[in-house]
Amino acid sequence: MNRLRLPVELVLSIVSSYVENLPLHGQPCVKPDWNFVKPVSLVSHACRRAALEAWFRTLRVRNRRDLVAISRDWPELYRWARTFVCISPDHNDLRAWDLFGFVRLRSVVVRMSPGGHECPIRFINVPPSVDSLELNGMVEATPLDMGDVAEAFPNLRTLTLRPQYTWCGLCNTSQRPVLSGEIPSLLVYKGGIGLPVHYAKFLSALTTLETFRITTIYKDNTDEHSVSQPPWSRYLDIGKNEHIWVGECHVCVVLLYRDDGFRESWVAKKREPEVRPPALQTVEWAFMTEAEFFVQYRDLDDILDDEV
Ligand SMILES: [Zn+2]
Repeated sequence: MNRLRLPVELVLSIVSSYVENLPLHGQPCVKPDWNFVKPVSLVSHACRRAALEAWFRTLRVRNRRDLVAISRDWPELYRWARTFVCISPDHNDLRAWDLFGFVRLRSVVVRMSPGGHECPIRFINVPPSVDSLELNGMVEATPLDMGDVAEAFPNLRTLTLRPQYTWCGLCNTSQRPVLSGEIPSLLVYKGGIGLPVHYAKFLSALTTLETFRITTIYKDNTDEHSVSQPPWSRYLDIGKNEHIWVGECHVCVVLLYRDDGFRESWVAKKREPEVRPPALQTVEWAFMTEAEFFVQYRDLDDILDDEV
């Protein structure tokens, strides 16, 4: 009996397509469950290679020794990886991560341990193909940190930040802002505005940056009796957003916005920034209460402990 023989290229394409279309799971960056990939990988040497190549397009590592192991034992991963995911790296190790050799990398995602990382971890030798960076869980993201990002990732088109405290451009510290009014799920700015003033300056070197996303963890105004009294509480109304909120803390807003001249000049400065990333189109502020933040991180830790 004649057996149907498919060209090996077609078989490999089918395997690759199968793996790419599997259900995704995991945090902070999803990929197929290995249990669904494993049976295909056992069919033949060629199928195993195709399955592994498709599965490792998202490469998750936990510490610097993983990079040494890749270099020594599995150099193919340098060509296979498209998304590099760094999960809970050692917060005592302050050396920069070296991405030399990941020639097809498109995006980098970092999920830092809550409370462990004061600032974002740094990278060197980032391939020019990387156009997306996501940094999660660091205590703060200062303008100087934005300068490090711009220097290491010069070709970014999308930058996403989820710090635990929000940078205030008035007192130049990281705070947990108090907000009132109807908090939107997303505050979207178009046309190149919406960055904290000092962020705009330090990110201006990113000539291709189009989208900036940031999540702010806030306190509800009802927790702060001192700032809930009229007339100044209206300055904290993020729902109306008359003053183009870009991370200012409640202390600065209540103290400084009472001065009409200062308030109007500050808002005008945000409406027409002197310097900014030239291609910036969209700035998105997402909002999360402290309670939501703690629940999310507790759940994520449970997931990661099981997976990594
Ligand atoms: Zn402030």
